[in-house]
Amino acid sequence: MRPLVAGNWKMNGLGADLAELATLKAALAGDPPACDVLVCPPATLIAQAAGQVEGAFAIGAQDCHARASGAFTGDLSAEMLRDAGASAVIVGHSERRQFHGETDADVAGKAAAAWRAGLLAIICIGETSAQRDAGTANHICSGQLDASVPEGATGENTAIAYEPVWAIGTGRTPSDGEIAAMHAHIRACLVRRFGEGARAIRILYGGSVKPQNAAQILGLPDVGGALVGGASLKAKDFHAIIGGVKAQ
Ligand code: PEP
Repeated sequence: MRPLVAGNWKMNGLGADLAELATLKAALAGDPPACDVLVCPPATLIAQAAGQVEGAFAIGAQDCHARASGAFTGDLSAEMLRDAGASAVIVGHSERRQFHGETDADVAGKAAAAWRAGLLAIICIGETSAQRDAGTANHICSGQLDASVPEGATGENTAIAYEPVWAIGTGRTPSDGEIAAMHAHIRACLVRRFGEGARAIRILYGGSVKPQNAAQILGLPDVGGALVGGASLKAKDFHAIIGGVKAQ
């Protein structure tokens, strides 16, 4: 299983910021990565980004609508994102769940839409700090997995991103033991539901991954890559994080 390091630019990036992708492309050409690399810029930049990186690494989206087309003003379908050059889409990010009220059922609909369009669905789950303090993190994450991941998930069409809400953009990360324990729990849930084939589904860690902690986190058991927010905006930092994946 080749790890995946994915960058989520969130609502950041104008045309001029595509220069970061040119810098990343040049850096990766001189230092081939030991993992798959994906950058998810805002939707406005997907087509330009895909044209610019010319397959040196993948370009993805940050959200999609569950339907292929229709009267949904302002929304974008998975088919449109694919047409623009995306090969993956993040669904169920905690910021979508929090600020747009997305439910697990909404997320499952979006993941199914991603598959329908031939995109890799990166399905995000994660507990809040109150839930962790209450000792319910495992229960919350397995509930989100059950209800957000549609039937038919495979290593080819799906990656899971475990992103504790309290670690996103805060500079705080769980301990190595907490990350390893949660990833083992997620793996067990996936295998119980989808069988041994689910061992091929990559489980990414997300939440304050930086050049300083990337190698340590990416080396933990069952960590199949990272979903990186703030530190993916600068090519230098993101390249350093990619370098944290050790060649197998
Ligand atoms: C994210 O938004 O998916 C994320 C992990 O953000 P950050 O790396 O900035 O914590």
